Amino acid sequence: MEKEKKTEGQLLEEKLCYKPEHIAKKHPEDIQEAEKFAEGYKEFLNHSKIERECVIYTSALAEKAGYKPFQRGMKYKTGDKVCFINRGKNIILTTFGKQPISEGVHFNIAHIDSPRLDLKPNPLYESEELAYAKTHYYGGIRKYQWGVTPLAMHGRIMLSDGKAIDLDVGENPGDPVFVVTDLLPHLAAKQSDRKLRDGLKGEELNILLGSIPVDDEKVKAAFKLKLLSILNERYGITERDFLRAELTMVPAQKAVDVGFDRSMIGAYGQDDKVCAYAAVMAELETKEPEHTTVTLLTDKEEIGSAGCTGMSSDVLLHYLEDLAECEGERVRDILRNSLCLSADVNAAYDPTFADVFEKNNSSFLNHGPVLTKYTGSRGKSGSSDASAETMQKIIKYMDDGGVIWQIGELGKVDEGGGGTIAQFIADMDVDTVDLGVAVLAMHAPFEITSKLDVYYTYKAFCAFNR
Ligand code: MN
Ligand code: MN
Repeated sequence: MEKEKKTEGQLLEEKLCYKPEHIAKKHPEDIQEAEKFAEGYKEFLNHSKIERECVIYTSALAEKAGYKPFQRGMKYKTGDKVCFINRGKNIILTTFGKQPISEGVHFNIAHIDSPRLDLKPNPLYESEELAYAKTHYYGGIRKYQWGVTPLAMHGRIMLSDGKAIDLDVGENPGDPVFVVTDLLPHLAAKQSDRKLRDGLKGEELNILLGSIPVDDEKVKAAFKLKLLSILNERYGITERDFLRAELTMVPAQKAVDVGFDRSMIGAYGQDDKVCAYAAVMAELETKEPEHTTVTLLTDKEEIGSAGCTGMSSDVLLHYLEDLAECEGERVRDILRNSLCLSADVNAAYDPTFADVFEKNNSSFLNHGPVLTKYTGSRGKSGSSDASAETMQKIIKYMDDGGVIWQIGELGKVDEGGGGTIAQFIADMDVDTVDLGVAVLAMHAPFEITSKLDVYYTYKAFCAFNR
């Protein structure tokens, strides 16, 4: 059949109107590449339930790719690769560029902490013949979603002599899992009348750990004691050791494919390990970039980036001071000339809940990484609003690199909102914009991304690191 000739109006529309592109329609040949890329990503997720584990896994990848520990005062040359770890919870990867460092660096920064249930400092108790742990939630998963989700326990216990015990229970074949119980519908009439936000309350997020007592009528808390005796046998710890611990409950589920077409990935903690993985893979493959790269995986984003492993600290500044010293430059010259991709996820348009989105400014699955000019809420409060000039520079990198990308805002005006790390980098005198993957069911125990988006986000970082 002969192709119908386009009308003048159609041609004008093509020339003048902005139309986001669907990767699978434009580049169906990339579906297979994206699937391959997703396999490595799922492995990364399964080994990165908490930030410590993510740093260990990433540093192993970096070592394999030829990264050496950063040394202060060293003279580095183009293509040299170095690695710096902060307190086991941040990792910074750098590939030295052709330009002197005073011409600015390219930052790729993603966070590797995700919402979870932290154990309280003194967590163990028993109630009516069941042993439990109390939790204090970290970050914002809607509390009712924690109920009856199989959970794994991760984290570290420090013994009094400084020895560390790392825990990872519920992830390996044969491991038990743990759970927050919920009511049966038959008895939930009153609970069902609660507001959804109170479906499960903070002090109801109690972890069921055991149900058998020690065999001794004289012991008051026999169920808790049984639990402690198992822990003591296995780890050599006592109840007092919990006071020196960071233990956390996360969904025990592994990353899986979603959909008959296997086009999506479902997993816990994709916010923001998805951007972390894409940024790290691009960083590892960077050979001789124009600008020196600084790929940083950070912590504590979910609770405001506070503390000495979060982006509001001076950790990055101190690293840059060390870099500047190596080349005899001033750190403020580096910062002024730098560009930053603050790599974090955005909420994908969900047709089931269409009324919270404004369609023209929402991100969609399979439309590529989302450039988010600003985040924030109530009139962009708490946001770093990228300038037109910054948008120009970043969009040029994307377009020159053949990256399909999209623009996106987090929901309708005044519907809610959020913030991320962009503001902290921008505060350092660095031009910054958010770029990341669109996520369905973001901040749930099981989040959904598209494989093509993950792959194209990696391509975006490759284009930026050129
Ligand atoms: Mn995030
Ligand atoms: Mn988040």
